[in-house]
Amino acid sequence: MANGNIPDMRGVGMTSQRTRSRLVQRLRERGIDNELLLDVIASTPRHMFVDEALASRAYEDTALPIGFNQTISQPYIVARMTQVLLAEGPLEKVLEIGTGSGYQTAILSQLVTRVYTVERIQGLSERAQETLKLIGLRNIQFKHDDGNIGWSDRGPFDGIIVTASPRLIPQGLVDQLALGGRLIIPVGSSEAQLLTVVRMTSAGAETEVLEDVKFVPLLGGKA
Ligand code: SAH
Repeated sequence: MANGNIPDMRGVGMTSQRTRSRLVQRLRERGIDNELLLDVIASTPRHMFVDEALASRAYEDTALPIGFNQTISQPYIVARMTQVLLAEGPLEKVLEIGTGSGYQTAILSQLVTRVYTVERIQGLSERAQETLKLIGLRNIQFKHDDGNIGWSDRGPFDGIIVTASPRLIPQGLVDQLALGGRLIIPVGSSEAQLLTVVRMTSAGAETEVLEDVKFVPLLGGKA
């Protein structure tokens, strides 16, 4: 096996190192240039986060269904959000809202000290916990809850990533940013969303809009 810490290659051609390298090449072409991040994407077995029937498509740059009417995010989007999150250097505590398959969680957990991840659908949260344990990533805490309220007793956070889209930025999440911390969040209606960065400065929160994106909606309550 080419990359040390990953136990499961399943010997499937479509999940080979060459297939993963092709994905990394595509991410480079789209402007991802954080080498540490690209290394982590190359060595993380995305096929373990999707149904076995979809494993052969796991290294295509597309979102795929993960059940419960949800999707695993497109690798480019995971890479883009992570690159923006880490733009000013390494971070310690990061909060993720929308664990989903756990793939974004896995990427984050290899790049920051500790990840706190919240998912409103219990079945997804449990499956993600199993997958991440199997891969051997241990610096992650999980919560089954409505992520709109963040995770205040673990905050403040150096970074917050939201992988589902609200119409407006939840103020509770902004309030859980440490000074110098940043929130990456897709904001808008179900048709049109903008990837947005909120930075917490000594003068208050500063907002910057990056690009058009498409996410599933950030819903309320638990399921
Ligand atoms: N990062 C995940 C993305 C999954 S899609 C991955 O790559 O697999 C977004 C996820 O956000 C879904 O699992 C959905 O259930 C979850 N979600 C939606 N609203 C939420 C909320 N209010 N709190 C927590 N999770 C939420």
